[in-house]
Amino acid sequence: MTTLLSIRDLTVNYRRDGSEVAALRSINLDIAASERLAIIGESGSGKSTLALAIAGLLPASSISGRIDRPGLDHAPIPGRDIGFVFQDPSGSLDPVMPVGKQIAEVVRTHLGLTWRQAYAKARTLLERVRLPDPDSALDAFPHQLSGGQKQRVAIAAAIAAGPKLLIADEATSALDTIVQAEIVALIRQLVAEDGMTLVFISHDIALAAELAERIAVFRHGELVECGATAQIVETPRQAYTRALLDAHIGLDAEPLLGRHSLGHTR
Ligand code: ADP
Ligand code: MG
Repeated sequence: MTTLLSIRDLTVNYRRDGSEVAALRSINLDIAASERLAIIGESGSGKSTLALAIAGLLPASSISGRIDRPGLDHAPIPGRDIGFVFQDPSGSLDPVMPVGKQIAEVVRTHLGLTWRQAYAKARTLLERVRLPDPDSALDAFPHQLSGGQKQRVAIAAAIAAGPKLLIADEATSALDTIVQAEIVALIRQLVAEDGMTLVFISHDIALAAELAERIAVFRHGELVECGATAQIVETPRQAYTRALLDAHIGLDAEPLLGRHSLGHTR
């Protein structure tokens, strides 16, 4: 198995109002090429910080430890080597530019194609993310699309330059359940077709289990447990992981942690 990325003793401290916030503490984690890994944990557990660290987007002064990227360029270019999908597609889409042009621009910037080639590629991408009418979608502005369709466009832009690694950070958290399931299925298909490595970040352990082969559980900046999805879901070693599972399943028994504290919207 080829290692895409190796994280050793990674600690991240943010400075806020003169004091330090420990966002990640001594994390050790290897990510294999072409695996589907889920990062789960409550809000504030350090998941997004880990994504930024992986992408090399945090200031060196806030990081200690090592991140080796044998499967990526040493200084990966976000957007080319690593594709990002976030919770709010509106944040990554320009509201005043047709979506076809936005995707074409990513392709042009990173792959050096002509506009004509880039638009052809953008159309193919809109087809791949299954927008109903890719030809007219090229000319659509973000506000003309539904939330699910905007997220499909954001995914098309994220994979446009052919990244080896796709990081989806709460990419389905703002969507309703049916659209959520469609987007999860789409991500699964695209990742398989392109042989991408997936880091799927979510507070929702059930959704993570649908998509990932392996799950890493974070709490208060610590990696509390990591294992194969079946092991984590069926025989979690940590009480915290069990609490996440119980809270999701919503058994009649009082969950150890209320839904509210997990930020569930269901
Ligand atoms: P998650 O994605 O799991 O919700 P984050 O990685 O966003 O968690 O945050 C981890 C911790 O770091 C939280 O305590 C959060 O408040 C803090 N934090 C995140 N970003 C910053 C920042 N830019 N400046 C200061 N503190 C931050
Ligand atoms: Mg986050």
